[in-house]
Order: sequence, then C-alpha cells, then structure tokens
Amino acid sequence: MIKRKLVLSFPENIVTKPITYKLVKEFNLEFNILRAEITPNMEGKMLIELRGDKAQIDQAIEYLTDTGVSVQEAAKDIIIDKNQCVDCGICTSLCITQALTLDHKSFKLKFNKDECILCELCLDCCPVSAIKVHI
Ligand code: SF4
Ligand code: SF4
Repeated sequence: MIKRKLVLSFPENIVTKPITYKLVKEFNLEFNILRAEITPNMEGKMLIELRGDKAQIDQAIEYLTDTGVSVQEAAKDIIIDKNQCVDCGICTSLCITQALTLDHKSFKLKFNKDECILCELCLDCCPVSAIKVHI
C-alpha cells in the first residue's frame, strides 16, 4: 500500500459529478479530502490523500485525467520568505482559501498554513519571489 497527495482541479462542467466516489468503488482506494474549494470561476479544487495499491492509484489517475480532471502531485509545503516579502498583498487576491491575508492593523502579510490547499496559484504572482514551494 502506498500514499499519494494530489491536487485535483475540476472544470465547471464536471464539478458536481460524483467522480471521487468512483475512486473508492472502482479502484478500491481509500481517500481523505484534506481541503476542497470552489474558485470564483466555478472550478473545483481539492487536495486529497489517496491510499492503496500503486497500480490502482495509477489507473485512478488515468481515469480522472480522461474525465477532464487535472491531477497534480501536491507540493509538500508553501513557504513565505518573510525577509523578502514586502507585504504588497498581491498574493492575497489569488489565494482562494484566504490562507494568505493582509492584517488589517499592521498591513503585514499573514499566512495560515492550515487553510492552504497547496494549489500553487500564488506561486508566480510575487514580484520579489518570496513565495516558494517545497516539493
Ligand atoms: S498554495 Fe497559495 S494560493 Fe493556494 S491555498 Fe496555499 S497559499 Fe493560497
Ligand atoms: S506577493 Fe510576495 S511580496 Fe507581496 S505580500 Fe505576497 S509574498 Fe509578500
């Protein structure tokens, strides 16, 4: 048995379909939904941990991809380099879970790791490259 953490992106036309249910039923996998969000443009994002036989996980990923779901290996961590960050707030507008916010009083960037779904949407927006991913 192996474990894999994946980020699934569901386009609007399939966001309501019971696709993850099939992972259990047809591929005999266990999965935990660690985070799930619907973005403003109605795309679904889900961070899941799959457990099961390697071959069946590979088949399940193939099934998801064929169905139109984008599957990415989840990063292990998002890191904000506080020495580089200039608290401009650009990243907060891209963070769908509000893991990144600006403190109303200090105007400093706050990062709540517990809310981060490792979607990596914030990665390329930082003008000083203060946002890094640990894979
Ligand atoms: S990866 Fe970035 S944009 Fe995505 S949830 Fe985490 S902090 Fe927010
Ligand atoms: S975009 Fe970069 S510099 Fe601006 S608040 Fe976010 S991490 Fe800091």
